Amino acid sequence: MTTTATGKLIRGYEVVIGLETHAQLSTHSKIFSGSSTQFGADPNTQASPVDLALPGTLPVMNRGAVERAIRFGVAVGARVAHQSIFARKNYFYPDLPKGYQISQYETPVVQGGVVEFFVGEVLHRVNLTRAHLEEDAGKSLHEDYAGQTGIDLNRAGTPLLEIVTEPDMRSSAEAAEYAKTLHALVVWLGICDGNMQEGSFRCDANVSVRKPGAPYGTRREIKNLNSFKFLQQAIDCEVQWQIDLIEDGGAVQQATALFNPNGNGGRGETRAMRSKEEAHDYRYFPDPDLPPLVIAPEWIEQVRAAMPELPRAMAERFQREHGLPEYDALAVTQSKAHAAYFEAATARCQAPKLVANWMMGELARRLNADGLVIDHGPVDAATLGALIARIGDSTISNNGARQIFDALWAGESTDVDALIESKGLRQLNDTGELDRLLDELLAANAKSVEEYRAGKEKAFNALVGQAMKATKGKANPAQVTELLKKKLG
Ligand code: ADP
Ligand code: MG
Repeated sequence: MTTTATGKLIRGYEVVIGLETHAQLSTHSKIFSGSSTQFGADPNTQASPVDLALPGTLPVMNRGAVERAIRFGVAVGARVAHQSIFARKNYFYPDLPKGYQISQYETPVVQGGVVEFFVGEVLHRVNLTRAHLEEDAGKSLHEDYAGQTGIDLNRAGTPLLEIVTEPDMRSSAEAAEYAKTLHALVVWLGICDGNMQEGSFRCDANVSVRKPGAPYGTRREIKNLNSFKFLQQAIDCEVQWQIDLIEDGGAVQQATALFNPNGNGGRGETRAMRSKEEAHDYRYFPDPDLPPLVIAPEWIEQVRAAMPELPRAMAERFQREHGLPEYDALAVTQSKAHAAYFEAATARCQAPKLVANWMMGELARRLNADGLVIDHGPVDAATLGALIARIGDSTISNNGARQIFDALWAGESTDVDALIESKGLRQLNDTGELDRLLDELLAANAKSVEEYRAGKEKAFNALVGQAMKATKGKANPAQVTELLKKKLG
């Protein structure tokens, strides 16, 4: 299958990107031992002899990790292998005292699959090569050790799913959108907590450039990008670096690189870490301690049957059931938390389109400004729903609603109706009173009435403005317009 992705050329070059993502699986214990995976424990209190492969120990596969891998495979429409193999990837590094990492090489548990997402209006499909189970390594601690390096092996043996794409992406924006979609999906599926600060979801970006139509260029792999912003910035820096090099007559050498967002005078910089190992450098071989991982077809079917409604299906349902435009439906299903918020707010006010507008507008703006995620904002779904209900029944204007929203956000109160009263924002809906007021207004503004009758639309707008002023903004503008038209027409 070919990709639909096409990116704009950069200085005459096409960008080619493939991502490898490590998603930490949300099991309580490690992939081959009973040690806890809880984040934040004192160093080396959660590393067992099995995690360190001390003599006489044997790894035992964690069923929960396999179940999560199957869930992922089913969700992306991949083949879930009925039999897959664990391999030892041999290398020497202080955070890996056993001298090898247990991973999957030739036969991974998840094969193929597709991730779909929109960039603007355009649907993109990124093909997955594979997703395999492996264990994480420990962590070197370079700070706080007075010139020495500490080793924390708590993370050794933490279960990871490494999700590898084909080189299908053609811009940094597309790569960032893919990563966001994948992140939302693994959280949605409940297989990863998605905590990027704690390293639960990190991306390696493989980047190359070529002239259109030329074969793929040589890639460099930028390691361990743990925010979508850094991912996009790192690719942008790398692309400029590679083009500069090629334009200067150089050739890209395959290598791994690290991104330093503060490098190059704050513009960000990718710097080669080591020349890329070839697969044979790792001397992969099947792990003799672990039998092949056998997954019965019935197990896959069970997982499929228990699959939650996925984001795309939910977006389609929201279009169907709530009449949302596609754009809105995708926005409110961008994460599980968004979807839950949308459904709860809509249940409260029965105005789905307004809920979507507020979620994409005012709410998104405030969350963004305060650096909050949707389920940690100060205005919960029921409260926003209550506010929108008061717009829907014309108790308040949009303008008034924004003032109430600000008050809710600032924590003045959580009671929408009390705020409407205390701020005097109830609209003038009693037509009797409004009627009288408009009659007076028309009598006092004979000139505008003349002009309107002579065909000047502007004069009408002036009358509406006068009416709003006379009611101190409490009249419903739609109602004023309608009544005025009736009186004048
Ligand atoms: P390795 O085993 O060295 O990690 P792979 O062939 O598995 O190499 O590829 C790793 C990642 O690099 C994949 O996501 C793949 O899509 C991507 N990739 C491969 N070739 C290129 C290229 N020329 N430009 C950009 N990305 C590439
Ligand atoms: Mg790789």
